[in-house]
Amino acid sequence: MKTVRQVSAEFADQLSTIYDSNEVNSLCMMVLENIVNISSAKIKAFPETEISTSESEAITNILTRLTTGEPIQYILGYAEFYGLTFKVNPSVLIPRPETEELVDWIISSVGRSELAVGKFLDIGTGSGCIPISLKKNLPGAQVSAIDISPEALQTAKENAELNEVNVNFILDNILNPVNNSLLTTHYSLIISNPPYVTLEDKKLMHTNVTDFEPHAALFVPKDDPLIFYKAIAEFASTHLEKGGLLFFEINENYGKQIVEILFSKVFTNIELRKDMSGKDRMVKAQLN
Ligand code: GLN
Repeated sequence: MKTVRQVSAEFADQLSTIYDSNEVNSLCMMVLENIVNISSAKIKAFPETEISTSESEAITNILTRLTTGEPIQYILGYAEFYGLTFKVNPSVLIPRPETEELVDWIISSVGRSELAVGKFLDIGTGSGCIPISLKKNLPGAQVSAIDISPEALQTAKENAELNEVNVNFILDNILNPVNNSLLTTHYSLIISNPPYVTLEDKKLMHTNVTDFEPHAALFVPKDDPLIFYKAIAEFASTHLEKGGLLFFEINENYGKQIVEILFSKVFTNIELRKDMSGKDRMVKAQLN
């Protein structure tokens, strides 16, 4: 029978060309914890722990998929975000740590103000990680979310059930919305992490993103990279209540342009914020 130590060595051997050693280590821990169901503390303390033949086979299968660059979250079928678990599959983007920072900023911005018990809308919700984590932490809000993809919306609905929160999901295209409730509601908060990756950025991206994650959630046309920001700023300028807030996750290269778009739509208190890597990553603005 194989030991935990041998499994770790196989991971290092097969994945070192595509991941750095810290990543290999955390992938190995995630897989062992998931398949063998032992804690990472126990894995580290007792490397001679033996694993069964069936567990070993399951681990080999996962390792084979990992060597193709497939993200671990798609293989295991879930991802952690803001302390919650979300189902993920190739119809949705894997939730990112930068987006956790955005959620954190939203929660601390609305705090106990009146906005916190208003209506929220998340545009391009994907797995539903933003509206679900907001509803979990601001239970007085009425939270809605839209996406153009029926498959993504189905996943987001399952995630709302999994996390036991009530979110109203709407199938629609923010570039050409038709849903009546979407168009007639005024929101206290509008949030979006729309597609923002340009072809230039794509060249620099890891293939485990470009080969596996949904392109519709990531990429924008070369000739109009801010298409979603313009449409959402316009929508928000007519669908936020007075004093309502708009939050965006953004492409680090377009902070200035996005601030200008918001300025031109008469938003005030516009604030650009960096993520933990020091890159311009999010914007907050208030409607006058
Ligand atoms: N931050 C994501 C990435 O770099 C992109 C998210 C998006 O396009 N909204 O993979």
